[in-house]
Amino acid sequence: MDRVNNKTLLKRALRRRCPVCGMGAMFRSHFKINKTCPVCGVTFWRDPGEVLGAMYFDWAAAMVTFLVLWALFAWLTNVSELMQFVILSAAAAGAVVIAYPWSRSLWTVLVYLSGGIERPPLRVLPGGSHESPPSVAHRISGGRTARLRRFHRR
Ligand SMILES: [Zn+2]
Repeated sequence: MDRVNNKTLLKRALRRRCPVCGMGAMFRSHFKINKTCPVCGVTFWRDPGEVLGAMYFDWAAAMVTFLVLWALFAWLTNVSELMQFVILSAAAAGAVVIAYPWSRSLWTVLVYLSGGIERPPLRVLPGGSHESPPSVAHRISGGRTARLRRFHRR
């Protein structure tokens, strides 16, 4: 249960790897996040609302892009204000698209730091003991009655 240090966490986030093991890929493709780590099996986002948190990073990426380009335009070019606005908006939207996986991997680090990422043994044990015995019992009794019915018909 030892915590990974922040530098390692940041490196894992930039490589879009699982913050817990550093091995499993967080993304199947640019936009498709894995629900669980394919290597160690932790659930990245237990709460679907984490998407809102990742949007803070999307917003930050858009803002930084917008402001930096705005400053560059102001210093270096004589583009009209309307044109600037169009280009800056497009660039900000593009930055969000490009930053998308990193927004999510960085947010996952914060989820991890807040203790929101469950480790597989904690997740599997309660789920298993609650669910499997009744369903197994049901299947067994169901099978037995079916066999009895077949026996009676004979
Ligand atoms: Zn992992």
